[in-house]
Amino acid sequence: MRKKNEFSDIKNMLTEMLEESTNEKQSSPAPNESSGNSSKDKEQIDMDFSIKEIMDDREIQIRDALKRIDESCYGICLDCGKEIVRERLEAMPETTHCIDCRKKKERQAESMINLRDTFFPDQIN
Ligand SMILES: [Zn+2]
Repeated sequence: MRKKNEFSDIKNMLTEMLEESTNEKQSSPAPNESSGNSSKDKEQIDMDFSIKEIMDDREIQIRDALKRIDESCYGICLDCGKEIVRERLEAMPETTHCIDCRKKKERQAESMINLRDTFFPDQIN
């Protein structure tokens, strides 16, 4: 069993990260749609949206991690159920997987891309 307050420092880190992420979102200007309609502006707007999506994603992960700390199931890999090493949690407190499973997932993603390139070479551009 893990001690109840074992992750109190990580919890503080996560809370700060969450506050930062919320502040950044509030201070970032809304996409400016009134300026010209060249394709470059369109690209810029798309990029702003994907940054926002990434930030929302991260916020969800942080909130999730905080919830897991409260429920005392934080620091356990979602795939293999092993404890995630403390150094990894400190470096990336919102992580949900141990290094082994993370690497496995990355390899899977890579092989998916390789498969796609093998079977649909025409679509590479
Ligand atoms: Zn794992």
